[in-house]
Amino acid sequence: MGYGKQLFPRFPKEPEEAERMIDEELGLPLAKDREIEKTMQREEREQQVLDLVGRQHENKLNIGCLDVGQGDATVIRLPTGEVIVVDCNTADANVDLVDFLKSCGVDVIDYLVITHPHYDHFSGVQKLVDNFQIRNLMEPSIERTDITEEARAEYDLYCNTVNELEKHGTTILHPVASSDVYKEIGDVRLSVYGPSRAGIERAEGLEREVHTNSIVMKIEYGDFKMLFSGDVDRDGWTRIAKYYDIESTVLHASHHGSVSGCDEQSMEKISPSRTIISAGRGNPFGHPDGEAVQVYKKYSANGTRTTKNGSLGISASKDGSYIFYD
Ligand SMILES: [Zn+2]
Repeated sequence: MGYGKQLFPRFPKEPEEAERMIDEELGLPLAKDREIEKTMQREEREQQVLDLVGRQHENKLNIGCLDVGQGDATVIRLPTGEVIVVDCNTADANVDLVDFLKSCGVDVIDYLVITHPHYDHFSGVQKLVDNFQIRNLMEPSIERTDITEEARAEYDLYCNTVNELEKHGTTILHPVASSDVYKEIGDVRLSVYGPSRAGIERAEGLEREVHTNSIVMKIEYGDFKMLFSGDVDRDGWTRIAKYYDIESTVLHASHHGSVSGCDEQSMEKISPSRTIISAGRGNPFGHPDGEAVQVYKKYSANGTRTTKNGSLGISASKDGSYIFYD
């Protein structure tokens, strides 16, 4: 359903009033998937996403999936004010993550999650270290030994920046899959479904295991659930779907919408209201893949959106309803 942007003539200049209007609107009967879609022009939407994650909004879990070109970067603002950044591509990005966070007035990143050590997910780490205090880094302890010279340079860069984070006092965390909640921050719960401890042990530095062992995590706020899947591949999905409750309101699709990250059986279980794909316009890999998009569409009640035409925003309430800004 689309209400059109005319409902918010002065937004985002008057965020308080806009929030009141949003709450009133949420009093309206929602579609079964509990989404209200707000379509906005690109510039207005970027401003909207800034406002969503730029400050604490009580009783809202706000999420900005940034238009960072070919890569991933998502900023999450918890109802209690904490900031979580999931992946941090800044190479060739349309929206620069560092500028974005500065415009938000962010000084501290409470959790930086790097789903796996590939450049399109970690390229901004050094800039983040230089500009912000990073309290915790969540990263999978993946070793990459079976790699080309070029990949070796990438991996060395990654290891060096993680070491530097540690020197700056960041706590380095290596979460592994568990059915126990990983972290509880106020009313928000983080669960980790990948990588598995056995998967990490088995990987033996093989490059093809890097995606399998991506961090896959769910963030829950009451009945609202969003699943982040890094670049996890079908092997990873098969295990995750077997052991964990992956049903989610919103899915952040794996691997920029490529076929390798799209698993139909998992999609059936996730059964999201909405799927978001982070992919760059005119990217050389052809992401997202047409076949994968068809699968995402088939299982997502409200369809899929990419970040190709700007950042996407979500403002979620505890009752599971949410506003989707696209
Ligand atoms: Zn990637």
